[in-house]
Formats: sequence, structure tokens, C-alpha cells
Amino acid sequence: MPLPPPRTAPQPTRWEHYVGGRFDATSEGDPFELVDPVTGRAFGRVPQAGAATVDRAVSAARAALTGPWGAMDTAERCRVLRRVADGIEARFEEFAAAEIADTGKPYALASTVDIPRGIANFRSYADLALGRAEEAYRTTTPDGLGALNYTVRRPLGVVAVVSPWNLPLLLLTWKVAPALAAGNTVVAKPSELTPSTATLLAEVMDEAGVPAGVFNLVHGLGTGSAGEFLTAHEGVDAIAFTGETRTGTAIMRAAARNLTPVSFELGGKNAGLVFADADLDKAVEGTVASAFTNGGQVCLCTERVYVQREIFDEFAAALAARAADLVLGRPYDDATRLGPLVSAEHRAKVLGYYGRAAADGAVLAGGGVPEFGDDRDGGFYVEPTVLAGLPESHPVVREEIFGPVCHLAPFDTEDEAVRLANDSPYGLAATVWTSDVSRAHRVAPRLEVGIAWVNCWNLRDLRTPFGGVKSSGIGREGGVHSLEFFSEPTNVCVKL
Ligand code: NAD
Repeated sequence: MPLPPPRTAPQPTRWEHYVGGRFDATSEGDPFELVDPVTGRAFGRVPQAGAATVDRAVSAARAALTGPWGAMDTAERCRVLRRVADGIEARFEEFAAAEIADTGKPYALASTVDIPRGIANFRSYADLALGRAEEAYRTTTPDGLGALNYTVRRPLGVVAVVSPWNLPLLLLTWKVAPALAAGNTVVAKPSELTPSTATLLAEVMDEAGVPAGVFNLVHGLGTGSAGEFLTAHEGVDAIAFTGETRTGTAIMRAAARNLTPVSFELGGKNAGLVFADADLDKAVEGTVASAFTNGGQVCLCTERVYVQREIFDEFAAALAARAADLVLGRPYDDATRLGPLVSAEHRAKVLGYYGRAAADGAVLAGGGVPEFGDDRDGGFYVEPTVLAGLPESHPVVREEIFGPVCHLAPFDTEDEAVRLANDSPYGLAATVWTSDVSRAHRVAPRLEVGIAWVNCWNLRDLRTPFGGVKSSGIGREGGVHSLEFFSEPTNVCVKL
């Protein structure tokens, strides 16, 4: 697809809350500023929801449960969701521009991943909700007549969705779509760094005839702001959160007061295992994608790569050469493979890890900040970076960095590879590169992760369970797993 003409300035949009079917620019704290990650220039101010706006949003969502939305059958609800998907599609370029304005990500990524997946989330969950069967059991009884047990699922009620900045529309709709498909109403709080596509989504909901109060949007920060007010609200029946593990623990503490159920998709420190029998070119290209896509700002990105010793040097040299070749650039330039990081604060964090790795002599490629000699020098770019030689206990190897960086270490045996991969507080995803089918089937199930890919990375089927173990999450979303989380079963037992 040809790229649209390069834009030098972010696209303006309106940033307002959407509560009970009305847009509302009330700010109960100082509005917060949006900054273009490409240049570091501010381009917008967003109202901040306080306790009162969050309260109104939760009340609107509660009221909508007993309005037309509550009376709709599944088929009709799914038609509404499809209209939302169509509405995003009709404004595709606007959504892509808004996502790029907030994140600085390449158009090539926003237009093939972020926005299409936002659309697909609504269509997939509409299909899934419609095609869903109920459980039923014929039960024997002492009198020989038996009983019929069947399970009906009802919506939970008001769902709070709190989402991060790395794939803003994709991750927001990943929760909003199944929550609505299951008949709930939603109050959403997108990341304060990326409120733009969420605001466009509210416009699309409005245009698609989603009844007032079914989808509500509040803007704000986390602690002491909209995020905390929403997740601690006693009128919320469930919380679906994606973000940092530390934030997850804070939300869980808040949720504990009301015993609110949670679904958490949290951080990762994902391993790639490259066996000597792997197709080396494919393993290198796959690792380039898994380590550097979206500037490494994907929860599924690989940050630890374990390579069998006999191919370690060859693999390391090839990966370092590929990393050094990746073009850092403006979002709308054809050649751009990597954009900036999302914010000055995040860049400082990533550069902190780069500095520690450099101090220990671990840098094979990158490790610094590129110089462009133009306005991008005010932005938040960092070089894609390949590291090696650090001990497994090093913070760079143990902690999630969330930047375009991976650390390489050698292994000798399959058991050692599995042990190294599993030696992490996180357990989101892993990738295995091998041409031995038996090895693939032996190794993948032993990995303590929610998702194990073999000879691929981030190949997604939205029907499959998605989530992490250990500090990477609680519960699974995707397919029926999402519909299960967002609904409550009631078993009906009929004596025959
Ligand atoms: P974050 O935890 O800082 O913020 C996520 C959201 O939580 C934001 O909307 C924020 O405003 C809100 N928040 C912050 N503090 C809060 C509080 N005390 N109460 C309620 N809400 C609060 O995460 P981030 O920096 O936006 O995103 C990056 C992180 O997300 C990384 O750790 C990454 O691995 C993780 N992530 C995980 C997945 C997954 O599927 N497992 C997907 C994407 C990102």
C-alpha cells in the first residue's frame, strides 16, 4: 500500500471524556499535555477526570445495563459491534494519524497492526459471541428419571478497562470488544500518553448508535487520578487491566476492598531459544522482529536470547549487523523501521539500562542515541541495541526494559536452555527456533509462559488463550476465554 504524504505535525483531534453518550471537556485537575515523541514538541492538552467524572461515568454505565442495551439479544448486540468495526474502518487514516501522533510509531506498523487489529477485535468477538454454545449435562438420578443441567451466562455489569500506551487502540479494543459482546457496559481509561484513538473510538461508538452509557471514556493519569478512582470504585463489577506488573499490584490492592474480579496482562522478560539446528537466517530475522518491533515496546518482545554455543558467534554477529542497519526515522518515511520511544521519561529509563550494560562492556551494537541534525534530535529516539556477556543476575537481564534491546547468552544443552528461559519472575511469551520437530514439541510445553511460539513470533489467532504466568498476569483473554471472564455463569438444574 503506498504511504500517504509525509506529515510533519501531529494531527489535531479533540480530547474529551465521553460519559453517558455526551462529550465533556471538564477537567478536575490540571489538563495534561501531549508530546510528539518524534520532536518532543507539545501538541495538545487533555482534560483530567477526577472522582466526580469517574463517578458519573460509572453511574451512566450502571444505568445503561437496564436500558436498550440490556434488552438486546446477542445477535443485535453483535450487529452494533460490527457497525463499530465499520466505523473505525471508514476513518482508518484518521485513526492511524492519531495513533502516530501519540506514539511516533511508523505508519507501516500503525496501518498494518494497530488499526486493523482494532477493527478485527470488534468483528472477532461479534463472531465468537454469536457462535458460542452453552454447556449442558444430562444427569442421572436415583429415580431413573434424570435431570438436565445447563449453564447460562450473564454479563458481569460495569467493566473498568485500563490500558497502556504501547498498542493503544489494539489493547483497548482487545478488552472493550469482548466486554461489550458479553453484554456488559464499559468505563475505559486509556494511557495518559495515548488518549487520541480512544477519543476517536468514542466518536465512532456515538456514530454507530451504541446506546448512551454503554461505552464511557475518561481521561486521566493513574495514581491519584482517573485510573485509581476508577479501579477503586465500588460501582465497578470487574477490572480488565493491561500494563506494568507494579501497577497491577496497586490495582489489585484497590480491587481487594470490593472483591472486584480482575484480568491482568502485565510485563514480560521474554526469552528466545535458538538451537544450532535452526534455519539461521530465519532465526536472525525472527529475532530482529521480536526484539525491535515497535521499538521493543510490545509486551511480547524478546529481551533475552539464548543461543546454542556452536552458532553463538555467527548468530551474534548477524543480529548485531541487522540491528545496526535498522533505519530510525519519521513515521511516514517509507524506509523507517523504528520510531522513537513513547516519552522522555521512558527513554531515560531505557538509557539507564543501556548505560549499565555499557559500563559492564556488554554492547555489541547500538547502545546510544542517534543524531539526526534536525528537529528529531528533540524527540525520544534510541538506537536498537544488542548486548552480550552479562551474568543472568544482572538487572539488564532480569528486569523488563521495554526498549529495542536484547541480551544474548550461550547454552549447551536443551535442559540448560529451558532452565535459563524459565529462570525469570515473568512468564508471558517465549520463542523457540529449531528445525527439529521433536525438539520443538519437547521444549515448548516445558516453558513457563502463557504463549510459546515455534519458528515464528507474534503470530496471533484471536481465538487462542492469551496471557501470562507468574508476574506476567492473571487469567487468560482471547476467544472464549475473554467471554468467560466478562460473564458470570449460572447453572440451571431441571429435574425431569
Ligand atoms: P502502566 O502500568 O504504567 O500504565 C497502564 C495504565 O494504568 C495507564 O492507563 C495508567 O494511567 C494506568 N495506571 C497507572 N497507575 C495506576 C493506578 N495506581 N491505578 C489505576 N491505574 C493506573 O503501563 P504502561 O507503561 O502504560 O505500559 C507498559 C507496560 O505494559 C509494560 O510493562 C508492558 O509489558 C505491559 N504490557 C503488557 C501486555 C500484556 O498483554 N501482557 C501488553 C502490553 C503492555
